[in-house]
Amino acid sequence: MAVELVQAEKHSPMKQSRENAISVNNISKYFGGFDGVIALEDVSFDIADSEFVSIIGPSGCGKSTMLRLLAGLIPYEKGDITMLGQHVDGGMDGVGMVFQTDNLLPWLDVCANLKLGADIAGVTVSAAAMAEMIETLGLVGFEKNFPHELSGGMRHRVAIGQALICNPQVLLMDEPFGALDALTRDRLNMELLRIWQAEKKTVVLITHSISEAVLLSDRVLVLSDRPGKLVAKVEINLPRPREPSATREDRLFGDYVVKLSQLMGVN
Ligand code: ADP
Ligand code: MG
Repeated sequence: MAVELVQAEKHSPMKQSRENAISVNNISKYFGGFDGVIALEDVSFDIADSEFVSIIGPSGCGKSTMLRLLAGLIPYEKGDITMLGQHVDGGMDGVGMVFQTDNLLPWLDVCANLKLGADIAGVTVSAAAMAEMIETLGLVGFEKNFPHELSGGMRHRVAIGQALICNPQVLLMDEPFGALDALTRDRLNMELLRIWQAEKKTVVLITHSISEAVLLSDRVLVLSDRPGKLVAKVEINLPRPREPSATREDRLFGDYVVKLSQLMGVN
C-alpha cells in the first residue's frame, strides 16, 4: 500500500513535470488577513493529467477553500498554483466546477439549464452536442422537464452536465453526491467513472466519504483539522474498471478504508 506521509518538507520544483495538470506549491490561505483564520497551511501536491484524485478531511479543514483556490475563485496569500500550465490568477479556461448544491434555475428546463452552463463560460453548444450530453447524463426523455420534475440524482446529473458541456480538461467537484441516498450515489459514482474514463479528464473530488474516495480515486489526499495541512497522499491500487459491490468486496478496499480512517483520526 503506497502511503506517502507528508512531512513539512518544501515542495521541490524539480518534481514538477509537464504532464501535471495541477501543481500546488506551498499554499497558505488566510481569511481576514494574516491575523485572521488560517484555512490552509503550506499545502503542496501535484495532480497528473487524467488523474482522479479525491481530497478528504474533517469538516471545516479547508477542502472547499482548496477547490475554490484551484478554480481561481478566491485569491491566495502565499505559495503558487499552476493549472494546465498557467499560473492561477482568477477564473480559468478549461476548468469546470460542480458545487455541493445544484444551482439549477427552476424556471429553465433541463436543456436550458445545460445551455446556461455553456453560456456562462462563453461556449457555443450545437444541437448534436446537446443531444450527446443528454445521452451521457442518462436524461433522454427529460429534456423539457423543469428541475422540480426531476429526482435529486437527476438534478445532480444536470449540474454535472453544466460543467461537462464546456468540455473542461479539469473537473473540480465539491461534495457533489453528499446529499444523495446510497443507491443514487453509487449510480452517479459509476456514471462519473464512465465519463472520466471515456473523456480522460483530470478530476479533483472533495468528499467526506472515505469509501467513495477509495472506490473512485487513483490517489487520495488527506487534510488535517484546520488549519488544513496535507498529512498523507495515498495511492489506491485497486484494479479498474471498478464497480461498487465488486470493488468493495476486494480485501484491499477495506485495508484502504481502515488506513485512511486512521490517517483522519477516525476510529
Ligand atoms: P470544508 O470544506 O473542509 O468543510 P471550508 O474550506 O469551507 O472547509 O472552510 C475552512 C475554514 O475556513 C473554516 O474554518 C471556515 O469557517 C473558514 N472560511 C471559509 N470560507 C471563509 C470566508 N469566506 N471567510 C472567512 N472564513 C472562511
Ligand atoms: Mg466544504
